[in-house]
Amino acid sequence: MVAGRAAAGPGDPIAVPPFLTSTFVAGGAIGYGRESNPTWEAFEAAVGALEGGTAVAFGSGMAAIAAVVGLAGGGGVVVAPHNGYTGTRKLLAAEAMAGRLTDRLVDVTDTAGVLKAAAGAAVVIIESPTNPMMDLCDLDAVVAGLASMSSPPLLCVDNTFATPLLQRPLELGADLVVHSATKMLAGHSDLVMGVVVARQESLVSQVRSHRTLHGAVPGPMEAFLALRGLRTLPVRLERAQATARVLAGHLASHPSVECVRYPGFGAMVSFDVVGGAAAADLVCSSVRLAVHATSLGGVETLLERRNKYEGEETTPPGLIRLSVGLEHPDDLWADLAQALDHGS
Ligand SMILES: *Cc1c(COP(=O)(O)O)cnc(C)c1O
Repeated sequence: MVAGRAAAGPGDPIAVPPFLTSTFVAGGAIGYGRESNPTWEAFEAAVGALEGGTAVAFGSGMAAIAAVVGLAGGGGVVVAPHNGYTGTRKLLAAEAMAGRLTDRLVDVTDTAGVLKAAAGAAVVIIESPTNPMMDLCDLDAVVAGLASMSSPPLLCVDNTFATPLLQRPLELGADLVVHSATKMLAGHSDLVMGVVVARQESLVSQVRSHRTLHGAVPGPMEAFLALRGLRTLPVRLERAQATARVLAGHLASHPSVECVRYPGFGAMVSFDVVGGAAAADLVCSSVRLAVHATSLGGVETLLERRNKYEGEETTPPGLIRLSVGLEHPDDLWADLAQALDHGS
């Protein structure tokens, strides 16, 4: 059976439908809709197959990250990127403020620094590439360094930017993977969902139990749409990635662009505009095909200046994060070029 597809007997439906039910007749595998749902399970089977582990779906990427942070236990140390996703940093800061954990922020490009912070920690969360700075972590070196510790922390990789098609952290030796399924996995800017993937049964059951006890569950309709979106991930990523490469090249030689932050793969490109915040704001308000909006990974190209948000002090004021969608690359470049001319 193909992961995430309904049983393929004569007359069976091809698509797993959204099981819009809160409860199930007693005596079956699932009792109540906060424990599980057949539509979540289809989505989980597909993501699990892609990442090489067992997936647990959540109501948002942050709910998934909160479940991983919960593995640290009371007072544990959690390591995270100093310039990664702002929601993760804000969650850790709030939990630290409340005395529930100690957060240590690191530069993911500095393997020695990551390993130093990881000593004695309970959980290490890595993004690679980081959002929005596009920093890369040498995951192999971090995995090897952690393995040499007497009681190594759990390593969790936020794989939202890379997707399992470009990077499979569990295969590299990570213990956990998280995604904002809101982004590339679902891919259509029409839902909010998250997922945790792990191999060790004890981790899977802790994460699942966190979801049930905290009620951090996705809706069946969201899981249905996420699975539908996931089916086209390879073709969407191929197109968006090819366009991102073209745009990164054009941006790099544009006089209004100070620097391009592009790791050479994926659908995300960040670039710093000459003239800083004011010039970058003008670029964002001048696009006509791309949309000035937060979020990423959808079929439409989105862009925004990240430093305008509280907690984004590590992001340069003129940095624009561009999520490349499926529009024609020529149309997109024409749009960005006219917007950059406004900004300069
Ligand atoms: C968006 C995002 C999240 C948070 O996910 P939500 O679905 O918005 O809760 C976490 N990590 C990264 C890298 C993200 O881009």
